[in-house]
Amino acid sequence: MPELPEVETIRRQLEPAVVGARIRAVDVLDPRWCAPLAPAELRDIVAGRRVQALRRRGKYLDWALEAEIHLLMHLRMTGTLLLDPPQLPDHTRVVISLDGDQRLLFVDPRRFGTGQLVVGDGALEAFYAERLGLEPFDERFTPAHLRSLARGRSAPIKAFLLDQRMIAGVGNIYADEALFRTGVHPRRAAGALRPAQYELLRDAIREVLSAGIDARGASIDDFRHLDGARGSFQDRFLVHRRGGEPCVRCGTTIRKLVVGGRGTYVCVHCQPVPRVRRAGAA
Ligand SMILES: [Zn+2]
Repeated sequence: MPELPEVETIRRQLEPAVVGARIRAVDVLDPRWCAPLAPAELRDIVAGRRVQALRRRGKYLDWALEAEIHLLMHLRMTGTLLLDPPQLPDHTRVVISLDGDQRLLFVDPRRFGTGQLVVGDGALEAFYAERLGLEPFDERFTPAHLRSLARGRSAPIKAFLLDQRMIAGVGNIYADEALFRTGVHPRRAAGALRPAQYELLRDAIREVLSAGIDARGASIDDFRHLDGARGSFQDRFLVHRRGGEPCVRCGTTIRKLVVGGRGTYVCVHCQPVPRVRRAGAA
């Protein structure tokens, strides 16, 4: 599933091709993509408008068009954007035609990806405010901020990191990698870390996301670049998807668990299992 580094990779590749261009047509082949808006309604609002900016917030890609029209794309599980492929691939859900005969395809085998229209910059802010916490690279994303978000929360730290309302853009891969680097078990209660660990965790989140962007994302399932190429961060995973292999730090066999419904990878030596508190125990 594409996370912040994957969406940012797409954004950086797409930006020079589309900013300043006019959208000539939008053919939504799968109405589920933009439901409840009908494909014809979406097309009528978007077609003919120039792309003023291409931005990212969390895992959303924001096409900022003229007249404060925002087309928000979300790749969800298996969405990919391909620019000018030689032929129409299977599972093409949307075709966007741009100036200069460029064609951008939204390809999505599982069909969870979406396109939503938000009209007005204020409405966009409200849309994000309901759904997303701070961007991890925002200067306000401090260790103190992370600690105050987590205070009193008994949910596992892994589930906390995946909650987009807490921190925008972190998903399963980067949560596992950040927790390993912090030495914190994914099942630890979010509110129970030591103050110094919130600082380490904040730094680790930024470090793994930066490394992911530098590697142009991770291609473990469907994620591909605009030209169909793969990212390379999967070659640099320290724990994620390395179940049964030795830990790079201590040699202990990495285990796979399920935390918050998601496959989770951990070294129980580097990330000690949280102690279970029993009634009457000290
Ligand atoms: Zn280890």
